[in-house]
Amino acid sequence: MKKIMLTGDRPTGKLHVGHYVGSLKRRVELQNTGDFDDIYIMIADAQALTDNADNPEKVRQNIIEVALDYLACGLDPEKSTLFIQSQIPELCELTFYYMNLVTVSRVQRNPTVKAEIQQRNFEASIPVGFFTYPISQAADITAFKATTVPVGEDQMPMLEQTKEIVHKFNSVYGETLVDPKILLPENEACMRLPGIDGKAKMSKSLGNCIYLSEEPEDIKKKVFSMFTDPTHIRIEDPGKLEGNTVFTYLDAFCRPEYFPEFLPEYANLDELKEHYKRGGLGDMKVKRFLNNVLQAELEPIRNRRKEFQKDIPAVYEILKKGSEKAEKAAAETLREVKAAMKINYFDDQELIEAQKERFAQ
Ligand code: ATP
Ligand code: MG
Repeated sequence: MKKIMLTGDRPTGKLHVGHYVGSLKRRVELQNTGDFDDIYIMIADAQALTDNADNPEKVRQNIIEVALDYLACGLDPEKSTLFIQSQIPELCELTFYYMNLVTVSRVQRNPTVKAEIQQRNFEASIPVGFFTYPISQAADITAFKATTVPVGEDQMPMLEQTKEIVHKFNSVYGETLVDPKILLPENEACMRLPGIDGKAKMSKSLGNCIYLSEEPEDIKKKVFSMFTDPTHIRIEDPGKLEGNTVFTYLDAFCRPEYFPEFLPEYANLDELKEHYKRGGLGDMKVKRFLNNVLQAELEPIRNRRKEFQKDIPAVYEILKKGSEKAEKAAAETLREVKAAMKINYFDDQELIEAQKERFAQ
């Protein structure tokens, strides 16, 4: 069986460091292994419209931002197909048929959708499209016969929903759809990176982000405003690591080589953590280190982005070509789905012959 990767992001803002550690970095690594037959990376504008229906301009403006972030991180259009969801009408058709295989109560139980409804204060006025977006996500994944979906932890319920749809479809209509595997980050801190406020997950819609394209001064300001341990008041006080956002970020971003470069008095992160827990290590020193780490990680990304920004029409051309290729793949799956459901009337010579016989009698 072919190895196919699909994943994507909603164009509701620029991409942030949570996307990077949660999924983007992994995609680029996997892309560069050459192990995949096809890689599809989708800018999910139709999904973004499910909770931004009254603000299509926001979605429109952010498509190019997300595309630039992709290219800046190293997604290579020669190796990965970058495309825009709304340009693939086949995805809507698949969604429409899958809707019949899912109950309302099943969608209601989706914990990510529940949390997002609360976050957006939708309680009494949930758009139907938003409520059912896990079903359209199943269409996105299956349309490309994806075997591997690298995403953050918040996407687990979506993958479960997709797998249920695949099993149901295949059992009702015969083996047609491919069962996808979720690929979560290996590092615990990267599964659901918290925002700089230390509260919810870092999320474009919550404004608690450090963006990949952030300027050095802004990165610094955000790092120094970060939440640590509120009981760690004096330097000599023992400090807690649980819920301490600065240490969570170090878990997510620190590489061994940053110690000799920026903090040579410690051998590694474990030593730094031990000292913090014991007392005698101030928050400012840890924040200065984190700032150096993030600056080192983000500088090459920011610089590459500036290069791609010089030729914006070329970026739209990449998305156009990618969308054309993606549509061909989705159309083939839709053809197979309709054949399995036997709603391919005009291709079905047997049906036409049988009806002819029936009326001839
Ligand atoms: P929105 O607020 O509009 O939903 P978002 O910031 O949650 O935006 P998405 O486009 O929904 O971003 O998510 C894109 C991908 O990034 C998904 O695979 C998701 O799991 C991953 N991701 C998003 N936020 C984080 C995070 N804080 N930590 C790890 N992974 C994340
Ligand atoms: Mg999200």
